[in-house]
Amino acid sequence: MGLLLIYAKVSFKDRIFSKIIFSGSITEAETEMESDTKRKRKSYRVFVILMIFKQHMDIKKIQDRLAKFAKDRNWEKFHNPKNLSMALNVECSELVEIFQWLDTTQSADIMLSDEAEHVQEEMADIMIYLIRMADILKIDLSRAVDDKIIKNSKKYPF
Ligand SMILES: [Mg+2]
Repeated sequence: MGLLLIYAKVSFKDRIFSKIIFSGSITEAETEMESDTKRKRKSYRVFVILMIFKQHMDIKKIQDRLAKFAKDRNWEKFHNPKNLSMALNVECSELVEIFQWLDTTQSADIMLSDEAEHVQEEMADIMIYLIRMADILKIDLSRAVDDKIIKNSKKYPF
């Protein structure tokens, strides 16, 4: 029942969501849509995409988990912007260290090697400190990324 309610809600609002998250692909799908069956299929697809998006990219939820993690361990006093930026830099260096002496082919194939999990963990560490730092500085990371991509597209037109 919960699934059905969410599905209906997404069906109702899919135009709004499609513009916010996946404007290109969904707009294209809309032109192909002719029957109710196709509408349902499309709505279901949007629902699945949204669930994946929420599952992996709910920054606020991650921030809340990280805040609790820090509070439970009395680490809040350490989580100032200076320390977090330094920790972020250390984690970036740990990622770089994995690739340090590899040639181009070895680095491209890293996820096929024994270091695959290590790469994933260091990237997660980077993301964790970045998201935590954004929380402390009250930066809307999603908006900041969107704004920067737009800025870059103007700076580097193709
Ligand atoms: Mg690490």
